Parts: sequence; structure tokens; C-alpha cells
Amino acid sequence: MKKFLVLLVLMSFFSCKQQGFTEEGSEPEELIKTFKEAPGEEPTKPKQTEVWEPKPKEITVDEVTRIPSDAIVLFDGSNFDGWVSSKDSSAVKWILNPDKSMTVKNKTGDIQTKRNFGDIQLHIEWKSPGEVRGEGQHRGNSGIFIQGRYEIQVLDNNDNDTYVNGQVGSIYKQSIPLVKASAPSGEWNSYDVIYHAPKFNSEGRKIKAGTITVLHNGVLIQDHYIIKGTTEFIGWPKNKAHEKAPIKLQDHRDNSGVSYRNIWVREL
Ligand code: MG
Repeated sequence: MKKFLVLLVLMSFFSCKQQGFTEEGSEPEELIKTFKEAPGEEPTKPKQTEVWEPKPKEITVDEVTRIPSDAIVLFDGSNFDGWVSSKDSSAVKWILNPDKSMTVKNKTGDIQTKRNFGDIQLHIEWKSPGEVRGEGQHRGNSGIFIQGRYEIQVLDNNDNDTYVNGQVGSIYKQSIPLVKASAPSGEWNSYDVIYHAPKFNSEGRKIKAGTITVLHNGVLIQDHYIIKGTTEFIGWPKNKAHEKAPIKLQDHRDNSGVSYRNIWVREL
């Protein structure tokens, strides 16, 4: 009985300590700080360092499409309902294909999502035409502009040299990809993107940079890159304050023939 009481007292003591940790915030950095600032209290039991709340939301992944249940499907090949022309918000003029993909229709302009996004996980698939045409930046050039401003380059770079900070998988004119992981021309590629938007204060000054991680065909090519600003064709990156914004797909206006399919996003 005595032993039991001692155990009970000890358990409630440890439980209080644990609550102390979680009350200080669940940010890993804060947790580490709390651990470090508890001299002489090195935990001696596994349970002392277990955290049971909050429980992560449970989701499922579709067995066929591999789309998570909490994702927003932006394009599944059936229509352009979630998209508009970037220039004037009119209906999308790109080509809807029977294989559930879409293809850029030359010189009809960029398209963008109707919805605005901040921090996201994005999945998107793209391919350049099997019939190779054009050279350098004029071969299968398109791009995915996160928040309409930060371009992840889409390009057919197979046996096709260009400046490396503008090659496939680059953050255009800013970050060279770690490797080139392209599928053969005419075959589908995937980009999986983790993006955190920059933060601006009330005076419009950037107080936290945006970051981007990209996997190309499952291979890490951009590793938490700190975005310097907008991805300009000419000039330095710009940092004008902005709110949540659409995802834009580029019509490079040179008959790129780039196609996209299976686009979904999870808001973070
Ligand atoms: Mg481009």
C-alpha cells in the first residue's frame, strides 16, 4: 500500500512536469529550450518525455489517385472550373485532353487558380512534348508560379543546355536545383512542393522570407530554399508586400506544348 502511494505521488509529480513542458508551447525549439533549462531534472523514465496531446488529425490517401483526403483538388482533368485566365479572369482557353491532362494553348496567356493560397503542399505533374522543338529556354518552357510570383521552372532540359539558375527545377534566376531529375521528353514528371509564404509587417516590409522545398520525381531538388523575392526575367527579386494569392501556370508564348495533370494542394 505504502509503495502504491509513493508511486501515485511520483506519477502525479511527473504528470505536472510534463504539462509544464506542453504549456510552454509545442514548438520544437521551445521544447528543447525547456529541456535545457531544467538543470538537474534529467528524465529517468520513458513516460516523462512522452507527449499525448494534441493528436494529429487523421487523414487517408486514395488507393488509386494517391490524393490525401484533406487535399483540395485543383485539376483532375474533367474541367477548368477552378481556373481562370490570369490576364482578365476570363474562361481558360487551354486545351483539355481526353487523358485527363491539359495543354498550354499558345499565346492564350497564363492561367491561375480562382482560390488564393498561403502556405501549401502542392502536387503537380507536367510533361514537355515528345516531339522535341526549340532550343534553350524555348523548349518546353512553362512554370508554376507560387502565389503568382515565385516560379518553379518547367523546361525540357534533356540534351538542351541553358543557364542553370533557369533550368528545369530552378527557382527561376535564384536557385539552381540540387540535381536534374527529369523524365525523358514526352513523359510525365511530378513536382511535390512545400512552400511557406513570406510575412510582411503593417508597413509592407518583409519580416520573414518565404521558403520552398521541391521534389522532382520524388528526388529533393530544392531544400528549404529561402526565397529572395519575386522571380524576375530581368532585374533583381522584388519584395512588395502581398497577401494569399493564386497559383499560376505559365504560357511561355513560344508553342511550348507543355501539359499538366493531377494538381492538388494541401493548405498548411
Ligand atoms: Mg518558365
